[in-house]
Amino acid sequence: MNEPVECIRCHTRMEVGYVPDGTHSGFQRQSWFPGEPKPSFWMGLKLKADQLVPVTTFRCPKCGYLESYGVPPTARDR
Ligand SMILES: [Zn+2]
Repeated sequence: MNEPVECIRCHTRMEVGYVPDGTHSGFQRQSWFPGEPKPSFWMGLKLKADQLVPVTTFRCPKCGYLESYGVPPTARDR
């Protein structure tokens, strides 16, 4: 996600960012997970960490529109 993204509503260049998720241990980056949520008594939801995809969210500084992408990290990002 290194390409500039243009707002589909007002055609302004969007800012890259992310939506923080508040947890008991602080804030984490929002992630995407495939399928339906399955409750877990201990963890809240049953998840496999290797299937989590970090969510990148772009924000338009002019109109406030948000647009999110779930792009798996590449070897270069790690
Ligand atoms: Zn906009």
